[in-house]
Amino acid sequence: MITPKVRAMAAALLLAAAGAQVAGAADFAVERRRMTQEIEALARQTGAETGRPAFDARVMTAMDTVPRHEFVPAEQIDVAYANRPVPIGHGQTISQPYIVALMTDLAKAQPGHKVLEVGTGSGYQAAVMAQLAREVYSIEIVEPLGQQAKRRLGQLGYGNVQVRLGDGYHGWEEHAPFDAILVTAAASHIPPPLIRQLKPGGRMVIPVGAAFMVQQLMLIEKKPDGTVSTRQILPVAFVPLTGGR
Ligand code: SAH
Repeated sequence: MITPKVRAMAAALLLAAAGAQVAGAADFAVERRRMTQEIEALARQTGAETGRPAFDARVMTAMDTVPRHEFVPAEQIDVAYANRPVPIGHGQTISQPYIVALMTDLAKAQPGHKVLEVGTGSGYQAAVMAQLAREVYSIEIVEPLGQQAKRRLGQLGYGNVQVRLGDGYHGWEEHAPFDAILVTAAASHIPPPLIRQLKPGGRMVIPVGAAFMVQQLMLIEKKPDGTVSTRQILPVAFVPLTGGR
């Protein structure tokens, strides 16, 4: 029998649960703020090398908004906002927050822009980019990761991100050309199809070098006249770009 006392106890329990949830969400806001402060400090330290001692304010707002804890496996939630890569299964990782911010900043995405990402992984980088650009197209080669990222981005309301399964080496012809391209896995060379799919005036950020070693994060700019320039930004360590080309 449900007595008024039992009902009152149940109500109190519900309130306690709701309270815990609110506190949890607030805690993540604090973690996220700490993460963005750490990114800002690192940007200052590496500024001479990267040419970007302070990232664009819109990039930092995006980093302070996207719920990174929603993109890591449940058992990694405690380190979701630590400034380091986090394993996401299938031998892959979600990149270090500072590197996500740096790559996003270098891409110089504007509200009207169309952006391609190669290597969806958890979907986190795509979500950050979705805060800045009009449309984000992201390709993932590992099927379960791609499916999960697609579902997650949908549930979190990132309606301007499209995820496709496949080998991103070849880009996404139907939606080309892109204002910016981010490659979030290490390539032995810059894939020619991606250069072709970059708009004149567009920018590509890509780690280039041997797999399982240190690579160079490169900024590739296609000038309005179609000529291409490359610049080394920073040594980085990414998981390899795979695929059957
Ligand atoms: N940007 C991701 C992290 C990328 S980890 C995030 O924010 O979480 C690199 C990802 O690239 C992995 O998920 C890996 O499976 C994927 N990948 C590797 N080679 C690929 C290829 N040729 N095409 C598309 N995705 C690829």
